[in-house]
Amino acid sequence: MININGLAVEPIIGLEIHVQLATRTKMWCGCKRAFGAEPNSRVCPVCLGLPGALPVMNRRAVELAVRTALALNCRTAGFTTWDRKSYYYPDLPKNYQISQYDRPLSYGGVFEFPFANRISRVRIIRAHLEEDAGKNVHDFPGCSAVDLNRAGTPLLEIVSEPELHSADQTREFAVQLHRLVRYLGVSEANMQEGQMRFEPNINLRILKDGEIYTTPIVEVKNLNSFRALHGAVACEITRQVEGWQETGVVATTGNKSNRGWDDEREATVAQREKEEAHDYRYFPDPDLVPLELDEAWVAELKEHMPELPIPRTERFISEYKVPASDAPALVDDRATADLLDQAAEFGGDKSTLAKHFLSFWARHANERGTPIADLGISSKHLAELARLQCEGTINATATAQVADQMIARVAHRFSGGGHESSSESEHPAEAKLSPRAIAEQLGVLQSRDEDQIATWVEQALASNQKAVQDAISNQKKLKAARGFLTGQVMTISGGQADPKMVGALIEEKLAEIGQSKV
Ligand code: ZN
Ligand code: MN
Repeated sequence: MININGLAVEPIIGLEIHVQLATRTKMWCGCKRAFGAEPNSRVCPVCLGLPGALPVMNRRAVELAVRTALALNCRTAGFTTWDRKSYYYPDLPKNYQISQYDRPLSYGGVFEFPFANRISRVRIIRAHLEEDAGKNVHDFPGCSAVDLNRAGTPLLEIVSEPELHSADQTREFAVQLHRLVRYLGVSEANMQEGQMRFEPNINLRILKDGEIYTTPIVEVKNLNSFRALHGAVACEITRQVEGWQETGVVATTGNKSNRGWDDEREATVAQREKEEAHDYRYFPDPDLVPLELDEAWVAELKEHMPELPIPRTERFISEYKVPASDAPALVDDRATADLLDQAAEFGGDKSTLAKHFLSFWARHANERGTPIADLGISSKHLAELARLQCEGTINATATAQVADQMIARVAHRFSGGGHESSSESEHPAEAKLSPRAIAEQLGVLQSRDEDQIATWVEQALASNQKAVQDAISNQKKLKAARGFLTGQVMTISGGQADPKMVGALIEEKLAEIGQSKV
């Protein structure tokens, strides 16, 4: 319950999400799925709705739908059917959409995601397959046109129970779902291209003088950004409170309504009244046979499910010792997360490796506008660089320098020919990317030669007698003096001495000098 205008209000929000599936071709024909192609260039008698054309189901679309359903913990139907949803609109040449009505492909799932320091649990009513409509184009003066390239694109419709309770929570649900479908590779989910669209249904429970009043349900149609989704929900919550205060109208059967979102005014605007299911005259499509899902096939898809982003985030936090706030940056791009896991398999300190990903590798990726996985650095070399630093072979500054050099050489390799080899060990160019070789060439390898370091230490002590006196005679000045002397050794060595060894040797020498004085 939140407090609005002095009233205790509980928003009740459900989401309907349409996701375009990343198939090569459309749902019922062989036309290529393509955004931005010449209008009406990706069409055929089937998706144009010409009489007599017969649809043929796209198996890949079913596979992608089942994978999503499994990730949402849905049950899949062994037997599922196709129905015609009748409506008349210029972008729908058949005058019906092939969808699923009473026997959806999957149902009864649940999606859990972290929100406001707790786990939000939202049940999924169903996820079914259908087809997208075309697009009306209003670019011409005095007339509208229709582009049917999109008609027949496979769509997965996911419907949640109304179990969300704020605009923030609704947005987070959508963000997590977006991340999930991209992770599964079932959709590119490019929001600008309308590949993922949200339709929240919103109403309120208002508590006043011990009575609960429920406002009429409003569905906001076709939102294609997280910002619009958040704005529409927030706007409806306030609007419905004010509306109820003015009119006292509560929900009854038949007073649901549809609204749209006006991006410029940042407000929802009235649209047609919402149809009830019976207005669509659903009936089984006589051109399509029911679909029976093979249990063994579903089980196999389940077995090959990747680790999903939310559990992976949890694992990264504990395994790579990264702060919870940084973990999503490592997990969000699946290829990058996979690369980190692969690099970690070479052994060594995982947290150093993750720190590299969060610092200089992220910076290089940002500068190039690519994910880290596309920088062209192999898992082996990522691991090697982390190991060099952990072992004290190079220091932190040098590590970043070596990384810069690796990136420069990859860029050179890419621009210089384009015979990119996928086998990394054999390729001569790979040797040039070896962090150890680069460190050697840069002269940043730290010396662990004890005699050499001892010489440097002796030089430093000899030319800094005052600090030596401070260190042995004044306990309070010991720490500062030791730090100073270490710095002097590092300078003399040109940064090459291993600071740990330097520290130990200075301590040893000071102790010797102290002893001889007694
Ligand atoms: Zn077609
Ligand atoms: Mn739909």
